[in-house]
This record gives sequence, C-alpha cells and structure tokens, in this order.
Amino acid sequence: MPIPPQLSPEQRAAALAKSTRARQVRAQVKAKVKNGDLDIAAVFSLAQSDESISKMRVIELLESITGLGKVRAQALMERLTISPTRRVGGLGALQRSALLAQFSIPSIDSRLGRLVVLSGPGGVGKSSVARVLRTRDEFWVSVSATTRQPRTNEVDGFDYYFYTDEEFDRAVKNDLFLEWAAFAGARYGTPRTPVLEARKQGKNVLLEIDIEGAKQVKAKEPEALLVFLQPPSWEELVARLEGRGTDSAERRSARLELAQEELAQAHYFDESLINDQVESVVEHLISLATS
Ligand code: 5GP
Repeated sequence: MPIPPQLSPEQRAAALAKSTRARQVRAQVKAKVKNGDLDIAAVFSLAQSDESISKMRVIELLESITGLGKVRAQALMERLTISPTRRVGGLGALQRSALLAQFSIPSIDSRLGRLVVLSGPGGVGKSSVARVLRTRDEFWVSVSATTRQPRTNEVDGFDYYFYTDEEFDRAVKNDLFLEWAAFAGARYGTPRTPVLEARKQGKNVLLEIDIEGAKQVKAKEPEALLVFLQPPSWEELVARLEGRGTDSAERRSARLELAQEELAQAHYFDESLINDQVESVVEHLISLATS
C-alpha cells in the first residue's frame, strides 16, 4: 500500500481550508440555482474556471433545480445516460448539450406550436381526452398509424391510419415516424411530417401515445411536454379495462399486466394529471400548452 504523504501542519490547514471553501462554493451555487439566479448553462461555464464547481456532482446540481426533485433528477440522468456519480466537469459534450436543451427556453423554435405528449396506462382514458381536444382550436391532434385491426366505428384516416405489416415496415425503413412502438401485439407510430407541419403553423400538437413512444419523443424533442394521465384509482382502471367489450379476454389480461408496469413509469413525465373528469383534464392540457 502506498504510504500517504506526510503533510506539515501548514499543509494540512491549507487542505482543510480548500475543502471548506469548495463546499461553500457548491452550496452557494446550489442556492442560486434554486432561486433561479443561475441556470445550468451558467454553472457549466463557471465550472470551466472553478475546480470546486467542476467537481460538483451532476445529480446535486439537478436536484437543486426547483420543481425537479430527487426522483425526476434521477430519471432524467437515466434517460440521458449520465452515470449517477458523474461530476459537472466530467460531462461529455453530448450529455452537456442534452441537459442544456432540457432546460433552455426555446429560441429558434419559439414560433413552433408546442408538442404535448399525453400518455399513461392503457384504459386510463387518453383517447377520450384526445377526442374532446379534436373539437378544440387550441390543439391539433396527431393521427397515428397502426397495424391493429380497426374496431367498430373506427374510421381509417381519422382514428388511425390502418396499415398492413408491410406498409408499417416500409414507413419504419423510410424513417417516416417521429416514434413508433409495439403495444399488445400491434405496432403504432406517429407520422413525422404532419406533426412538424402543424407546429410550423404555430399549432399546439397533441400526441396520444404509449409510454415507450413518449420516451422516444422526449429523447428526440427535449422541449416536448410529457403528460402522464393517471386513473383515479387502480380499481377504476381495472373496471375500465374489464368493461371493454372490444378486446378479447386474452388481450384484456395482457393489458392489465402491462398497466401495472406502466403506472410505475410516471416519474419520467413532466406533469401528471388524474383523469377523474375528461373536461378538467382537457382544460388543464390547454392551460399547460398555452401558458
Ligand atoms: P388502442 O389500440 O387502444 O387504440 O391503443 C393502444 C395504445 O397505443 C394506447 O396506449 C395508445 O396511446 C397507444 N398509441 C396510439 N397511437 C400511438 C403511436 O403513434 N405511438 C405509440 N407509441 N403509441 C400509440
């Protein structure tokens, strides 16, 4: 074992003073971030010239951002593949720019309409919310493509674009989807171009998609607002899924199992709304998109 260097009393005092100062600097930075006096871009730039800030753990910095909290900060680090022990000075260029995009106020894109992703467990009532939003001027609701069979009353081009497996494969190959995911034995995808066109016209766009798809959107469009729709209770969700006459028994039980896993993903989302009344969820989404 290497023998630790013998420090003189003066050197020991200097080392102690240095670490005390480093702790004080980090505490000050965190307090300023919390108050909104410093944003993370400013912290990154200070870290270039101050070793104490450079050595601050990324998780500590994120946790000091008001409204983020421990759980969301951890989820964000996971999503951006930043190791839990990473320090500010050790962030890679891609990780730094992903973090900046996450918190920056959009500049060039500010003329674009907002991208709001509504997700949550199957059966929670997302499609009822989306149906009402289609009648409102504040949102343009994206129409997804799917390989599942149409249900009675569903109209091709309005509820979904119903694709064959081959059509879906081709769309994936040609990169026509903003995101796509497999769900309960079928595939679903968001056509990319109509979403961008609507946003360019300044329209707020709503995607009503599953959780896997929501995560993909956030990775590609960090400014997207992810909203998780919660059932009023687990019992209510079970009742809704069991009551669905349109699904086979096998599909219903697969959905219940999946719903349990899906509910555990709420922490990935920016906002969480309880679907006790469709109208109040609709109003809440409108205020989130227009505020
Ligand atoms: P359903 O078959 O009941 O209409 O929808 C099943 C699930 O697929 C729902 O959770 C719905 O939100 C999701 N979904 C619908 N469209 C899309 C899409 O374009 N992408 C993804 N990832 N999920 C979708």
